[in-house]
Amino acid sequence: MADGCLFCAIVAGDVPSTMVHETARTYAFRDLQPWAPTHVLVVPKDHFTDLAALAAADPAYLGEVFAAAAEVAELESLSGGHRIIANTGPDSGQTVFHLHVHVLGGKNLGALAG
Ligand code: AMP
Ligand code: ZN
Repeated sequence: MADGCLFCAIVAGDVPSTMVHETARTYAFRDLQPWAPTHVLVVPKDHFTDLAALAAADPAYLGEVFAAAAEVAELESLSGGHRIIANTGPDSGQTVFHLHVHVLGGKNLGALAG
């Protein structure tokens, strides 16, 4: 648990969230400001700053995060497809520095725009 980290506090239950899915090492909950009809965040329960940090430390654990994201898409019945985003660093607009993957779907998401 990292001091002052919002998503560590959510995993600990100190900040409320709407759970969608949970495994031994991952937690998935609804984004407070959804960009799409389904917008779920999947996080490792342990604190890693971003995807690159977890990839370097424990690639199998990163695999668990992506497997959980795929299960979320299944649970949310995103049969038309979905998009997974992991903002990493300032140029991406990352605002919470605890790795999270956004799982988006439930409508045609359009092309990625620059
Ligand atoms: P990012 O810009 O990739 O760092 O995304 C952070 C995401 O966290 C944003 O989409 C926010 O809407 C979302 N968010 C911030 N605070 C909360 C919260 N307490 N519960 C759920 N989602 C949150
Ligand atoms: Zn954290």
